[in-house]
Amino acid sequence: MRQTKRYDGLDRFRLVAAAFVVAIHTSPLASFSEGADFFLTRVLARVAVPFFLMVTGQFVAAGCLQHGAGRLFRYLKKTFLLYGMGTLLYLPIGIYAGHYEKLRLADMVRMLFFDGTFYHLWYFPACMTGVAIVYFMSRIRNRKQMFLLAVLLYMIGLGGDSYYGLIEMVPYLADIYEAGFCLFSYTRNGIFMAPLFLLLGVQAAESRMNDRRILWAGLGISFLAMTEEAFLLRTFELQRHDSMYLLLPVVMFFLYKLLLTHGTSMEGDGTGREESRRKRWTAYAVSASAWIYILHPAMIVAVRVIAKAGKVNLLLENSLVHYLAVLVLSCMISFFMVLMLPTLYKNKYKRSCLHINKKKEKRITQNQETAVCCGRAWLEVDRKALHHNVRFLQKRLPDSCKLMPAVKADAYGHGDVLVAKELEKVGIDAFCVACVQEGVKLRTQGIKGMILILGYTHPSQFFLIEKYHLTQTVVDYSYACQLNDYGKLMHVHIGVDTGMHRIGVRSEQLEQILDIYRMEHLAVDGLFTHLCVSDTMNVRGKNYTAAQAEAFYHLVRQMKEHGYECSAIHIQASYGVLNYPKLPGDYARVGIALYGVLSTKEDTAAWSNDLKPVLSLKARIAAVKTLYEGESAGYGIQYTAKQNMQIATLSIGYADGLPRALSCGAGSVLIHGCLAPVIGRICMDQMTVDISGIENVQAGEEAVLIGHSGAMEISVCDIAKQSGTIANEILSRMGARLERVLI
Ligand SMILES: *Cc1c(COP(=O)(O)O)cnc(C)c1O
Repeated sequence: MRQTKRYDGLDRFRLVAAAFVVAIHTSPLASFSEGADFFLTRVLARVAVPFFLMVTGQFVAAGCLQHGAGRLFRYLKKTFLLYGMGTLLYLPIGIYAGHYEKLRLADMVRMLFFDGTFYHLWYFPACMTGVAIVYFMSRIRNRKQMFLLAVLLYMIGLGGDSYYGLIEMVPYLADIYEAGFCLFSYTRNGIFMAPLFLLLGVQAAESRMNDRRILWAGLGISFLAMTEEAFLLRTFELQRHDSMYLLLPVVMFFLYKLLLTHGTSMEGDGTGREESRRKRWTAYAVSASAWIYILHPAMIVAVRVIAKAGKVNLLLENSLVHYLAVLVLSCMISFFMVLMLPTLYKNKYKRSCLHINKKKEKRITQNQETAVCCGRAWLEVDRKALHHNVRFLQKRLPDSCKLMPAVKADAYGHGDVLVAKELEKVGIDAFCVACVQEGVKLRTQGIKGMILILGYTHPSQFFLIEKYHLTQTVVDYSYACQLNDYGKLMHVHIGVDTGMHRIGVRSEQLEQILDIYRMEHLAVDGLFTHLCVSDTMNVRGKNYTAAQAEAFYHLVRQMKEHGYECSAIHIQASYGVLNYPKLPGDYARVGIALYGVLSTKEDTAAWSNDLKPVLSLKARIAAVKTLYEGESAGYGIQYTAKQNMQIATLSIGYADGLPRALSCGAGSVLIHGCLAPVIGRICMDQMTVDISGIENVQAGEEAVLIGHSGAMEISVCDIAKQSGTIANEILSRMGARLERVLI
């Protein structure tokens, strides 16, 4: 059974809040008692807008804080569209009422960004500004400081609102406020009012204060005090406007918390008939409240027209009747909009629900899949470490040289799509892969940057290169001819052989290379070579690298003399960046170093201050058992217990990429921060380890195969060394069935 959090209290209160807003704009009790009307519209109903802001805080701002700028822009776009729609809707009324006459540019700015294009529409720019401010505050400040900042803004806002009378007494301050009022007519806007309530919404959702008695008491006391505050301010005629009170945030906190405790967290599979009916009703209420907010000023006009036309004076003379008429009309039209306009609304509602459900489902299945896989064996990809390595490598190179990360072989086992997406977030826009399939996969999964295929692609697959906008390496002259014969424009980088003798046109074959440049259907975007001993810093290695570099740059110079400015040249891979950072180039094709390790344990140790390992490999302990003295374990009974001992079976094997060479004590894993040596032969999907001496090991716990546990660490290089290879091979052979989790 799934826990579905419901917000019934919040959802229902939206309608109440909408009714409050209508009251603010119609003054229901004005015919009866000025004091009563003041209480209703200037005190009680003042909770409405902060309430809406807090909902936005909880459900939007919190998301932006967590998920970053993407979410922010989506919200801004959506709200902007809504604002635009509202503006269009009220344009005729505004024009008729003369709102837009003699507008200067400054007035337009004020209207658009602060006051709203119609009197109630200020809420939309306020939300946008507020959410953006909260987001940017979060970039530079922690939560506490953000709060202080928001409180400060609110205080400044108070000075221009309910407490303006006090400000007016202070000479220079009054001038500053006056200047401000050229920019906005009120301080209850996105700058001064919204941020605090948005943050308060985030905070209220997170706070654990749930005792309803305390909340009721808090609400009662603070609301009484706020009422007192409002009437005092009114008596002394300090108010310029009356949207903000000192105690309003306190009242709102308690009110919001109470509403939150009303949303019961339901146990259920979410398919119950009753529940889905209620859900739908709540969804209607939520949408209807938004419509009421947007439409009610038009309904005020409509009621006036009806009253005048039908000569129903009561509608205008009795404020309460007027209010009720506006409210009922607004509700009717709003519910009509939500319920009866299937093409305009319901489909969209359905679609958005579907969208949400799909998203939810995706999240849930992701969670479940993670849960399933984390239940067996999985890889953790450390996002921070990856970002750190990117920054370090980038810093080592001149500014003009960009990284072109090698995400071949499933990003050295880390998960190519996962890694590439993470890299795109930090501004990487070029990648290299080994083969066309890897490129197609990245492209279809949404990677936008340039993707260079470093290896050979068979002519039967040239169409994929073209279809998915990939860039192909020219592996030699005859291959260039084949590419050209395909007859469609192909983007290529020419591989140049400067001494590795693997692929590439030989660097001394200037004529061939010029020929390739001239080929009709080839767009030569780059020229590169690969260093084959840049990891070896002895005399022979250095000389060889120097010769390779010289051959390459000589070629580039010759090309220039022939009038070919090479668009992008690249020569370094990881070791090149570390050992020869000064070699000029437009790209560096970094692979292994990006993942925070180097080929050998010694190299990795030498750079351990600068590079952080990105990957951890973990597996679940499937069973713990006793092996009695003299008993043997595993295939080939390679291990025999010398005394009674505890062993654990792990749910990971060589099919997951763990070298079988670690069998029989060659390797170990970490459990509870202690080494547990492998006993017997590693199987395809399972293995056993000796856990004697490790306290309290239980089935279901995790074992670390690569990474940290307590103070201990097993690195990829340890495993590489134990199995006689380099870290690159271990990483690139990580099993396809391991779940990759970004942390
Ligand atoms: C794999 C590869 C790289 C990346 O190498 P690292 O040593 O892992 O940085 C760069 N260039 C070419 C041609 C490659 O094949």
